[in-house]
Amino acid sequence: MNRNNKRRPGASAADLSGLPVAKNEEYIADIVGLGHDGEGVGRVNGFTLFIQGALPGEKVRAKVLKVKKQYGYAKLLEIIEASPDRIDAPCPIYKQCGGCQLQHLSYDAQLRWKRRLVIDNLERIGKLRVADAGAELRVGAEAVAGVGVGAGSGGARDAGIVVHPTLGMSDPWRYRNKAQVPIGLAAGEEGGLIGGFYAQGSHRIIDMEACLIQHENNDAVVAAVKRIAGELGIRPYNEGTGKGLLRHVIARYGFNTGEIMVVLVTNGRDIPRRDELVGLIREAIPDVRSICQNVNRQQTNVIFGDETRVLWGSEVIYDTIGDVRFAISARSFYQVNPVQTEVLYRKALDYAGLSGEETVIDAYCGIGTISLFLAQKAREVYGVEIVPEAIEDAKRNALVNEIRNVRFEVGGAEVVIPEWKRQGIAPDVIVVDPPRKGCDAALLETILAMRPERVVYVSCNPSTLARDLRVLEDGGYRTVEVQPVDMFPHTVHVESVVRMHRKS
Ligand code: SAH
Repeated sequence: MNRNNKRRPGASAADLSGLPVAKNEEYIADIVGLGHDGEGVGRVNGFTLFIQGALPGEKVRAKVLKVKKQYGYAKLLEIIEASPDRIDAPCPIYKQCGGCQLQHLSYDAQLRWKRRLVIDNLERIGKLRVADAGAELRVGAEAVAGVGVGAGSGGARDAGIVVHPTLGMSDPWRYRNKAQVPIGLAAGEEGGLIGGFYAQGSHRIIDMEACLIQHENNDAVVAAVKRIAGELGIRPYNEGTGKGLLRHVIARYGFNTGEIMVVLVTNGRDIPRRDELVGLIREAIPDVRSICQNVNRQQTNVIFGDETRVLWGSEVIYDTIGDVRFAISARSFYQVNPVQTEVLYRKALDYAGLSGEETVIDAYCGIGTISLFLAQKAREVYGVEIVPEAIEDAKRNALVNEIRNVRFEVGGAEVVIPEWKRQGIAPDVIVVDPPRKGCDAALLETILAMRPERVVYVSCNPSTLARDLRVLEDGGYRTVEVQPVDMFPHTVHVESVVRMHRKS
């Protein structure tokens, strides 16, 4: 999409003159859908306007900011008829922050919309037939097209894929176990430290005392470090000049163990009054188990540098998911919503249909979380992951839990799994949990060649999920059911677990 405002060579102003809307004019729009970024999809005389903050079913007054041939963007001015699903966003900094996109939509409606988003992708991109797709809250593309991509009721050969209602949280707040906060200098004479988030579209730090999706302990840790470091005269890092010391504070909390880790990312090794700093942090946060320092001297917006050392306490904290215990180090990847992670993994385990006899491959295994979960119910599990440190953690986690029927290997799933095939490893079940871009084509090919009974696909991106399911369907697999899981309440993200069976 051409994002800049300038006209292309050859295009004339007349291009936009016949349109039913014009820039800077105000219109009444009917909102017919909710786009993939949580924006309202509005209609004015058949023309589509994207309007941040508007909800499906609403009638709003909006001012056009930008017009293109097919659609435009407008600013919400007034809600003339409100959706019954509209609520007041509880967070006072919701609009400034941008970390959440759906706080103005009731939680129940968020869950319905997320299911709808998954269905829309399965139908539109995957060309898959969904049973009883329903109307519910329509999503953007479908609303733009102006047609429901119905599953069709007539002449069904089979009932279609079951997409279950999204599994949400009973208390969808304060769910995150990790905070990463940039530190800056407060305006004014005192020059204390501030920390929070970058104002949307900029690198100006806005101070934040509380984040409603963050565990309270993480807020408390960040507040304590800001206060203590400020009192000790530790200078915050300045992105513009590259001077100053304290860049980021990271707080991690083990929901099931109560253990706390603090990581100070600094622009250099020496911390003035380091022992005092450590002592005061320990005093302020009695449950702290680990205080680490990560040194990042690069002028970059990447948070972590290469060197991490322990200032006090342990190198790791622990948390548990189900019966499995995980060591979490300063930089290792660990799912941020531990309550819903357990829901997700239990579903993956359920869909894997294990009896204790199976050979299972866990592709994109990270620190081995799903692998170790599956290993308790399988004969053997093979995990593969591209980040070497994550595989070190995975191996350590296997030891900590005395789980011996797992083998972890570093490398691309699309490289290592074909090698396993050559070695004669024949999985009954393959679980994949790829990053947003989905599975590598070579991996999908290898899965089809290995012919496991079942494939379990864990996905954080419904569009690449739909694309990959189409490939597996064409190669002889049937998508049986899909379970959307809400790992990130109040944001537009949705996770799904899919059960596929080999057609006999
Ligand atoms: N299953 C894990 C991690 C999922 S995130 C969990 O639930 O915690 C996806 C993982 O895929 C990341 O750890 C990323 O490092 C890894 N990854 C990305 N590309 C990969 C590739 N080509 N082969 C193997 N792993 C890859």
